[in-house]
Formats: sequence, C-alpha cells, structure tokens
Amino acid sequence: MRYDYLIVGAGLFGSVFAYEAKKRGKTCLVIDKRDHIGGNVYCEDRNGIHVHKYGAHIFHTSNKEVWNYINQFAEFNHYINSPIAVYKDELYNLPFNMNTFSKLWGIRTPEEAKEKIAGQIAELHITEPKNLEEQALSLVGRDVYEKLIKGYTEKQWGRPCTELPSFIIKRLPLRFIYDNNYFNDRYQGIPIGGYTKIIEKMLEGTEVKLQTDYFDFIKGQENIAQKTIFTGMIDEFYHYQLGTLEYRTVRFETEELDCENYQGNAVVNYTDREVPYTRIIEHKHFEFGKQKTTIISREYSSEWKPGIEPYYPINDEKNNSLFERYRELADKETKVIFGGRLGNYKYYDMDKVIEAALTLVKEEL
Ligand code: FAD
Ligand code: UDP
Repeated sequence: MRYDYLIVGAGLFGSVFAYEAKKRGKTCLVIDKRDHIGGNVYCEDRNGIHVHKYGAHIFHTSNKEVWNYINQFAEFNHYINSPIAVYKDELYNLPFNMNTFSKLWGIRTPEEAKEKIAGQIAELHITEPKNLEEQALSLVGRDVYEKLIKGYTEKQWGRPCTELPSFIIKRLPLRFIYDNNYFNDRYQGIPIGGYTKIIEKMLEGTEVKLQTDYFDFIKGQENIAQKTIFTGMIDEFYHYQLGTLEYRTVRFETEELDCENYQGNAVVNYTDREVPYTRIIEHKHFEFGKQKTTIISREYSSEWKPGIEPYYPINDEKNNSLFERYRELADKETKVIFGGRLGNYKYYDMDKVIEAALTLVKEEL
C-alpha cells in the first residue's frame, strides 16, 4: 500500500477530498484521464480570457460554510447571472420576472402579471402535474412555456417535455419583481483568476497523474492504496453489469471573434427549436473583460454514447432505479467510496459537490 487514498478524478469533489486528506496527514494519489485538472470546472486561459471549456460555470450558494470554504482558495467577483432569452426575433429577460412579463404582455404591475398567468393556468385544468410539461404549464401558463421553456428544454434533454421529470423545471424561479438575477442564492460570483487556480491550490503538494485512466492504471496494482475515492461513472466501475445509465452530453463550438463585444451578455439562451444550439456563452463577460477580441461558445446538446464525455445524469425513474441497484453494490464495498456528479449519478451544482465532499471528509477522516 503506497497511499492512503487513490482519488479517481481531479474534479471538484476529488480535489476537495485530496486537500482535506493532505491537511490531515494522509497520502493521496489523484489520477485523471483528462490532460488537465479541474474536471468540468476547468477554464483555459486564452489571451487573458478564461474560457469555460465545459460550459458556463457560475458559483452560487446559500450555504455559508461552503461559501467561506471556497473563498479560502479565491476571491470572487460581483458577477450576477442574468441570461437573455432569444425566441425567434423576440428578446426576453430571464429568469421569468416582471421584465419578462411586461415584454410578453405589455403589462406593468405584478397584479396584471399574476392575473394573466392565473388565467392561462385556469384554462388548463391540471390538478396533479405528471411530467415537466404539465409542471411548467401549471407554474407559468402557456405563453411562457411555449416561448421560453418548451423548445429549450427539448433541445437540452432530447426528449419531449411530456416524457421528462418535473423536478428539472423546479429549478427555474418565477418572480413578480423586476429582478433578472437568475439565482435565489445568498452568495454568487466568478472566482477572480478562474476556477483552475482554485483546483491548483487544492491539489498543491499532492501527487497528480493526468492522462491516466483508472481501469488501465489499476491493473496489477490493486493494492496501491488503502481506499479508493471514485468520482467517475459508477456503472463503468462495475463494467455496466446491470445496464448502462444514460446521460446528456454537450458539445461546444468555440471561436475567437475580432470584435470587442459580440452579444453584450455572458449567456444568451436560444429558446426556439429551429436554432440548433441551446445557448451562446461570451466568456469575457463573466469577468467584465476589456480585451480587444472576444471568445464565444455555441452549446449543442446531444445523447451521450460510451467514449464521449458524460455531462448531465438523466434523473428519470428508469435511470434512478438502475442507479439504486448500482448503489446496492457500492454499499457493499469496504475499500471504494463513490462521490461527485458521476459517482452519485446526481445533478449536483458545485456548492452541492463541495458540501458532499466535506460530509465525506467528516465521516471518513
Ligand atoms: P467532474 O468535474 O466531472 O470530475 C470528474 C473527473 O473524473 C473528470 O475530470 C474525469 O475526467 C475523471 N474521471 C472519470 N472517469 C475516470 C476514470 N475512469 N479514470 C480517471 N479519471 C476519470 N454548477 C454550478 O454550481 N454552477 C454552474 O453554473 C454550473 N454549470 C454547469 C454547466 C454544465 C454544462 C455542466 C455539465 C455542469 C455545470 N455545473 C454547474 C455543475 C458542475 O460542473 C459540477 O457540479 C462539478 O463540476 C462536479 O464535480 P465532480 O468532481 O463531481 O465531477
Ligand atoms: N430552461 C428553460 N429555458 C431556459 C433555460 C432553462 O426551459 O431558457 C429549463 C431547461 O429545462 C433546463 C432547466 O431549465 O434544463 C435548468 O436550466 P439551468 O440553466 O438552470 O441548468 P444548467 O443547464 O445550467 O445546469
């Protein structure tokens, strides 16, 4: 046994665990199959612009402990996420708030907006929403659903809204004030210097091997560590013996443009079906960048296949029950602990990943 812990995955979960373990005098080896650390929060520095290589990452949380924790590794700027939605030739503010409603219906007061939405909801006679479509319709009525939710969601998840679980949409706040802040959380921002710097600090002094796939690496050295923290796909760990969990994946088309400001906002969502991508990210606006050129990424969503990066677990009934069966296997392990978005097959935001890693630290260390 050369290490106390073999940590598979240099993403946020693995890195928080590695940092805490090292602090407590444990020896760790972190491996990752990618050629960089950071997992999905990795940012690439291009001409002074931090390009969010795996999609826009905005840190937000209401958990003060997590906020204080992450602030030891970086200072955060005052970025507030306020995406714009483009539907055909119309433009709306997100999340759904008085700015959206006044543009949609030419109204001004919260009373008028509530009346309009309530009227549309009443026409639908939905008592118990059974899927995302019904959930969305019964929350926001037909206009918002058809212009701002349906097309985007079906592109994002590659399924009709009638076949998607309703919890996905519960994440979208509905507000009767003029407030374009996408999140309700107490704390929000982008780390000054980028996310990769945070991970570098977490992994400082810990041995890291990149371009190292666990399944090749472990052959012949099964006893390299007392325990393994596995943040890859749980079904892959078990060689898909019970079946394959499904994911959505995203593909980014990134280009540098010879203009200073392409779209005037970090995130612009395209909510109609006809535009093939879901959103365009203009990376410099996360950090109020003043560079002469700009870098944008168009985000396309597609079904995941083995061999490409999995991004979003699809937490519908079928996949969740398959995951439960994998979890039963995992519960029997004495030397392997599963963590993170892929290990727990859960749609975790970064703050939840940190919370989960710190919980494991308390239990394990
Ligand atoms: P990961 O970052 O996926 O790390 C797992 C690592 O394990 C990877 O580096 C992978 O290469 C490695 N690995 C896997 N299998 C193996 C193997 N067999 N051998 C070796 N290494 C392996 N959260 C927010 O809070 N705010 C946001 O705005 C936000 N936006 C997001 C946008 C997108 C498009 C996506 C996909 C996610 C977003 N998230 C956001 C979520 C955030 O990315 C995750 O919560 C977080 O990155 C998960 O960290 P992790 O360590 O669990 O997983
Ligand atoms: N969504 C939508 N219209 C939008 C943005 C989001 O209908 O303009 C829905 C969509 O179903 C998406 C969910 O809200 O999957 C959550 O979106 P969010 O942007 O919070 O998720 P992310 O992709 O950033 O994890």
